Amino acid sequence: MSPAATPLPALDTAPLALVVDLVRSGRARTRRDLVALSGLPRKAVAQRVDQALELGLLEHGDLAPSEGGRQARTLRFHAGAGHVYGVLMGASEITAAVLDLSGTVLDSEHLDWSVETGPEPTMKQVDGLLETLAERTGADTPWAIGVGLPGPVEFATGKLVAPPIMPGWDGFSARSWLRDHHDAPVWVDNDTNLMALGEWSRGTPHDGRDMLYIKVGTGIGAGLVTHGRLLRGEHGAAGDIGHIRVTDDPGTVCRCGRTGCLEAVVGGWALLREATARAAEGPAFAAALRDHGELKGADLGNAVLAGDPLALELLDRSATVLAGVTANLLNFCNPGTLVLGGGVLKTGPRFLERLRDTVFERCTDLVCRDLTVRAASLTEHGGVIGAGLLAAGNLLTLPALTRWVDRGSPLGQAALLQRFSAEIV
Ligand SMILES: [Zn+2]
Repeated sequence: MSPAATPLPALDTAPLALVVDLVRSGRARTRRDLVALSGLPRKAVAQRVDQALELGLLEHGDLAPSEGGRQARTLRFHAGAGHVYGVLMGASEITAAVLDLSGTVLDSEHLDWSVETGPEPTMKQVDGLLETLAERTGADTPWAIGVGLPGPVEFATGKLVAPPIMPGWDGFSARSWLRDHHDAPVWVDNDTNLMALGEWSRGTPHDGRDMLYIKVGTGIGAGLVTHGRLLRGEHGAAGDIGHIRVTDDPGTVCRCGRTGCLEAVVGGWALLREATARAAEGPAFAAALRDHGELKGADLGNAVLAGDPLALELLDRSATVLAGVTANLLNFCNPGTLVLGGGVLKTGPRFLERLRDTVFERCTDLVCRDLTVRAASLTEHGGVIGAGLLAAGNLLTLPALTRWVDRGSPLGQAALLQRFSAEIV
């Protein structure tokens, strides 16, 4: 169907969508608020609220504080009206979850799995996890699906573009694959972006300030949330900092094929490469190599926690190099909070402390003023929460809501909402 043939929403859905949106966003808590904020007549507000309650999109909350007259019942969005699926793929693991519309995880599954296996087998595993979750929760008709992938995602199409650690995935569309298997709109993003979105929306403390999120794990990535929105840039590549050049040493070869990349110095895989080559200098690494033949991410954490001198040297050097790049980013975008996330948190507080010290040395006074530097609070589920919020958020923007609100559910309109999403994200 051409865009011109897109069915127009019924004329009266706009006020209903507005009422639901004002309550969901927290701007309105009572009918009185709605009258003040919507510009709709009191009677129209009352009718739309009744309709939204009947459709199950709003529900009554507590009694509002008295303003002299009768106490009003507050209204709140009914996050349980529907559910979404969230999927987060890492280099060596998959997490899938069923979430309500506010990003609360209702149930989740985790699987150790290498993305190097290729798209088709990996997506079958994803679908298997979703099937298990659907059976367990009864949530077998998601309103939408959000997916995070460990590579550069062209956001408009959901396709991977030259992902360095995902052989066979170049040009693959997880959106198309999932759309063939589920009658739901699918949105795909880079994993770090979704970790940032999850942490900003549901992490603690929550202060609503701009946030720069840096993920340090096998790979390195960043996500920037300003005014509550992720910065994606022209094609979705914003925040892909792993391949910023930090050294002219031609021997520092990166997985992307270039040399001197941040990831080739700081990424978990690069540290393991160096620890393996220099294992004679690190007793914990030497013992791990004797024990299981090759070093894994967990060995790095254990070696740091055991005080292995080589492990501490690698960790400190990584923190200093990353801090240099991070300070430049902070000087550029001046967020209120810098959050460190990813597997590096399993090595204890040392990395964050080094990062914080160097960042405060190198940032300007105004950037340092009120800057909070902290570890991610959502370590396990931050990414799938972000994936769920991406999916739910796209369904619940005011323009999208207008398309389906009068039916109480977007089910059955996946194609329309997917096509329409280019305008709303
Ligand atoms: Zn690189």
